[in-house]
Order: sequence, then structure tokens, then C-alpha cells
Amino acid sequence: MTSNVELIERRNRTIGPYSPLFYTEPLQFVSAKGVWFTEASGDRYLDGYNNVPHVGHCNERVVSALAQQAATLNVHTRYLNERVIDYSEHLLSTFDTGLDRVFFGNSGSEANELAIRISRQLTGSTGMIVSDYSYHGTTITLAGLTTGLKTATPLDPNVRALRIPDLDRDPRPEAEVLAETLADLNGAIASLQEAGYGVAACLFDPLFSTEGMPRLPEGLVQGIVSRVRAAGGMVIADEVQSGFGRTGTHMWGHQYAGMDADLVTMGKPMGNGHPMSAVVTSEAVLDAFGSTNEFFNTFAGNPVSAAVGEAVLIEMAEEGLMARAKTLGDEAAARFRGFADQYDFVRSAKGVGMFLGLDFAVDGEPAPQLAKQVVEAMKTRKVLISRIGRDESVLKVRPPLAFSETELPILLGALEEALAEV
Ligand code: PMP
Repeated sequence: MTSNVELIERRNRTIGPYSPLFYTEPLQFVSAKGVWFTEASGDRYLDGYNNVPHVGHCNERVVSALAQQAATLNVHTRYLNERVIDYSEHLLSTFDTGLDRVFFGNSGSEANELAIRISRQLTGSTGMIVSDYSYHGTTITLAGLTTGLKTATPLDPNVRALRIPDLDRDPRPEAEVLAETLADLNGAIASLQEAGYGVAACLFDPLFSTEGMPRLPEGLVQGIVSRVRAAGGMVIADEVQSGFGRTGTHMWGHQYAGMDADLVTMGKPMGNGHPMSAVVTSEAVLDAFGSTNEFFNTFAGNPVSAAVGEAVLIEMAEEGLMARAKTLGDEAAARFRGFADQYDFVRSAKGVGMFLGLDFAVDGEPAPQLAKQVVEAMKTRKVLISRIGRDESVLKVRPPLAFSETELPILLGALEEALAEV
């Protein structure tokens, strides 16, 4: 195996040094299966972080569906193909009434870009409302509304960033926090209207993952939705992280959060590593956009992607992965709450289903260094997790849903040791 030193040097000279590598000493894997990575040395690491290999790394059903379809037919959507229609029907059957049409794409960014484009055309407005610490993708429009990742692109003048509160960090009464946030939103809407932009849409991750999974005031999401609608705007739920049963109780994060969405975008886990994404919406929206734009996306919704997407849905159902996310997630969450009680530096336990975190703070101030130390201490124990949040002080435990009762104790045991160590 090429040494880390040499490979980093070659990486810096080709793809550059700016896309950060995880860990002080980066990892090089040669293979992965299920929820385990393998290094060249043969050492195995437990994946407690990646949501793309949703039904497990190199899942046999997915790999064989991909290989078979790639060896049979792969072509764009200008020809009839039953596989693509079967998959569309299957995917849409997981949505509530009214969300029954789909546009396919190749990445989460593409899906969000299209959702914004649709909302702008249909409302005749351009204003966007996002959270003040969020990430939705790489395109020029999305760079212009990125608040949660380093970007040289300034916020677009027609974007307003709403501060999303966290009751675990805010000692004030819940009603006061709710009222303040909704007043801020009213201000944002008024300012978009006064500037002549109007409101095209709000775009939120239903779990507010990048934000660090804040504990929201009851009714906040519904309050946002009703105000945006009243201003003529549409509601876009970005399910790139929250979708596909991650919450354990609902297939989609917007269902879990009670976020009544007009457009739902998804990506990452959808193809278990094969690049695919989608925008799900209503018949009326699809008709309004489709009839006025010849929208064609070469690779989107091709038969290979459909075969892969279908294999992911079948695997989820046959293995009962959503129910498992609930059982294991509840068990893990109870332990996380125990850690929050046990350690002064753990301010709160975060998350739902198989998306959990611990927020670190010392003397009331976020403690990103501690979170980093725990991530490294977990790596020493060969368990991979990461961190999120506006201060990077929240541990991010978001394993493939293929995680089982065999691996959970390994992760929890390592975390217990890592917390004791720091
Ligand atoms: N939305 C969210 C919530 C994301 O987390 C990401 C990727 N981290 C994206 C959109 C962009 O997806 P992609 O990288 O597939 O374009």
C-alpha cells in the first residue's frame, strides 16, 4: 500500500489540499462490507458515520442489481422502460397523498437546484428562506444560500437566513423562544417583500442536521410553513440526510417533523453509493413546470439507477431497516441520555432514530475540542463517527441503517471508553 505521506503529497498535487480529510492521521481503506471497513493491514473499522451506504457497504442485492442492469441496458429516459416506472411507483408509494410525482436527478445539489427553480417559476418570486447554519449543495444558487460551510460566495441578496433555536442551549421559556423565532421569520419575509423579491420558498432539512440537531420549540416547523405559505412561498424539505427511514418512525423526515412540504428533495442513501437523487412533488406542480419547460436530464432516472434504487427499497423492507433504526436508535438514545447525565461536559443528547449526537460544552460554552478528541479516541478504538453543528461541538453518530444489535454494543462500549478518557 502506498504510504499516507506519499498519497497525501500526490493528492495535494492533483485534487488539492482543500477538501479536508477526516482524522489527524487519515485512513485508507481497501474494501468494505455491511457496516465494516477494512484497511490494507486487515484491520477493520466500524462505520458509525456514513449514511450513503444505507443498506450496507457493497450490499449484494444492490451490487448485483446494478451489475445486471448495466450489462443489459442503460439509456436515458427518452425511451419507455418499465423498470424506471416500477421504481417511480414504488418510491412514490412511500409518500403521503398529494406527493405523487417525481423528477429524477444525480445528486442532492441537483435536486435542490431544481426544487428552487420550480418554486421560483411557480411563485414568480425569487426570495429564499434558509436556516443560518445549513448546507444544501454545490451549485451557484445553493452556494448563494450556504450558511453552514466555508464558501467564498456571499449570501445572495434575495436570501434570508433564519436563526434556528436550540432549547437545549437556550434557558428561556419555550414560548418565548418560539415567538422570537417566528417574529424573526416575519421580519425576513417582510424584508424580502419590501426589496421586491417576494418569497419563492423556504428550504430546510427537517432534522436540521448540519445545524447540530437542535431541540426545537413545539410548533416551530408548522409556524414556519404557514407563514411562508401565507406569503405565497413554497416549502422545500431537503431529505438528503433525514430521508429513507433514518428517523426510525417515518420513511421521510418531513413526515416525522410535521413539515407539510410542496417539494421533497433526496439523494445520498437513495442509491447506496450510486449517484442518484429526486424531487418529489404534486401532480399540479409537475404539470405547471413540465408543461412549460422541456426538462431533460441525461443520466437521471436511467434503468441502472432505477434498478439500484429499487434494490435499496426492497432491501430496506426485507431487512426491516426502519423498524431496526427505531429499536436500536431508542436503545442508543437512552445510553446517550445517560452520558449526558453522567458527564458535566455533555450538555445534551441529540437526535432521533439512527441519527444521534452529544453536544459538548464547558462552562456553558461549546467545546468543539472535546468533540474532536472523542472522535479521535473512537477512531483509536476502530469506530468511526464525526461531528456537526454551528460550533462543531456535536458528535455525529449516523451509521448505515444496516447497523445491527451485534454492532451497537461495540459502538456504545467504545463511546463509553472515549468519554471516560477525555
Ligand atoms: N443537502 C444536504 C442536507 C446535504 O447534507 C448535502 C450533502 N452533504 C446536500 C444537500 C448536497 O448533496 P450532494 O453532495 O449529493 O450534491
